Amino acid sequence: MILEHPKYDIILAGAGLSGLSLAFELARRPGFRQKKILLLDRDRKQKNDRTWCFWATEDDHLPPVLFRSWEYCRFYAPDFEKNMRIAPFRYHMVRGIDFYNWVFGELDQCPNVTRISTTISGIDAHQGLVFTDAGSFSADLIFNSAFTHTPIMPRPTPVYPQSPFSDDRLMGRKKIRGEMEYGPLVRLLQHFKGWVVKTNPGTFDPAAMTFMDFRIPQQGETRFVYVLPFSDSEALVEFTVFSPTLLPLEAYDTALRNYLSDFMGLTTYTVQEEEFGVIPMTNFPFPSGQEGRVINIGTAGGFVKASSGYAFKRTLQKIERFVDAWEKSGLPDPSRLVSPWSFRAFDSIFLQVLQSHNELGAEIFTSLFKKLPPALVLRFLDEQSTFAENLRLVSAPPAGPFLRAFVQQMPMLFRL
Ligand SMILES: Cc1cc2nc3c(=O)[nH]c(=O)nc-3n(C[C@H](O)[C@H](O)[C@H](O)COP(=O)(O)OP(=O)(O)OC[C@H]3O[C@@H](n4cnc5c(N)ncnc54)[C@H](O)[C@@H]3O)c2cc1C
Repeated sequence: MILEHPKYDIILAGAGLSGLSLAFELARRPGFRQKKILLLDRDRKQKNDRTWCFWATEDDHLPPVLFRSWEYCRFYAPDFEKNMRIAPFRYHMVRGIDFYNWVFGELDQCPNVTRISTTISGIDAHQGLVFTDAGSFSADLIFNSAFTHTPIMPRPTPVYPQSPFSDDRLMGRKKIRGEMEYGPLVRLLQHFKGWVVKTNPGTFDPAAMTFMDFRIPQQGETRFVYVLPFSDSEALVEFTVFSPTLLPLEAYDTALRNYLSDFMGLTTYTVQEEEFGVIPMTNFPFPSGQEGRVINIGTAGGFVKASSGYAFKRTLQKIERFVDAWEKSGLPDPSRLVSPWSFRAFDSIFLQVLQSHNELGAEIFTSLFKKLPPALVLRFLDEQSTFAENLRLVSAPPAGPFLRAFVQQMPMLFRL
């Protein structure tokens, strides 16, 4: 008998960072060995399409594929610089390809997990159907990281030819509500281009990475460069902007070239690899519950830290906690994937400041790293700081713009 829609217990629609993290967590737990799991993604993940950086302590559970780690981070502003030991954290880098290969290696040993490379054209949340080029599939539960509500990413351009997400395409759900219903949404983008640069030995200090270098021209925006040295002759140098819109393609290359010559004195080097990325920085209230048979995860589920764009460690941690609870209770509880309200409120206010005064980013980050221990700032960004520590943090940057942003964001804060 040919089934019209092959049936699975769980479908992961999108098998990037969040989909693969979830697949890995499910596959390694005895409680889910009987579940038929299907992974769908249009990309076979055979290229190093991104590098993930994050800070972590020894107690954090990390994948065994760290590419490089640093104990020291440098921070630069026009009138300030600091070389910071970030203990108990270390700053780590994972190459996308290493992560994908590691998870695929684990999943290959699980007969209950099937992977299909195909483009998903839509999801019927109520029927539990996923429509793809390879036919449609049904499941009791679908974890979506391929489609987003509302356009949170820019439209494709020559700079940004293919957005990683398709917008608002979940079928069988109500039309997305008007933006005014949500309150004052902030939609900034973190856009960046990185070069892996190879040059003369002795150029880079492999013991320290540059977390943020704000000495570059800000052009009325929040712009910085970070440098991740792999050795004394090789580094990933990344030019990053927090702003509402992308730049023309050549502007990223010009900024990288200028940084290498003006701040590193480099004119002779080869560019071995490039990466380009766009991450949403928004207070859009991502759907946090289960809609029909769909639970949104990853960027589509609001996993990206809105004020920093970091998502890697958060994704692993959220998924691990969620699956722990699911295994114990027998029921998936998507509320476990949501960050505490207070931190979403801080993010919202910070984003409002950056939207109203995009030029203030350098001053705000400088005030944080000037006045506070780096580990405290990192713990705050990890949403692990205490109430008293949060008070110290919010009193570090200039008060005026934050008070105005608080008032502007009031209607939004109650909807987060
Ligand atoms: C270049 C780059 C660098 C980044 N660096 C960092 C970093 O250093 N640190 C950090 O914390 N975060 C970083 N991020 C942010 C974040 O960690 C990543 O974006 C992360 O991959 C998000 O996980 P995700 O599962 O939501 O999305 P993804 O990993 O992008 O997974 C979504 C998957 O859905 C698939 N998909 C989409 N549409 C369809 C469709 N129609 N049919 C089939 N499949 C589809 C895609 O192929 C993709 O595999 C970076 C992002 C980018 C783009």
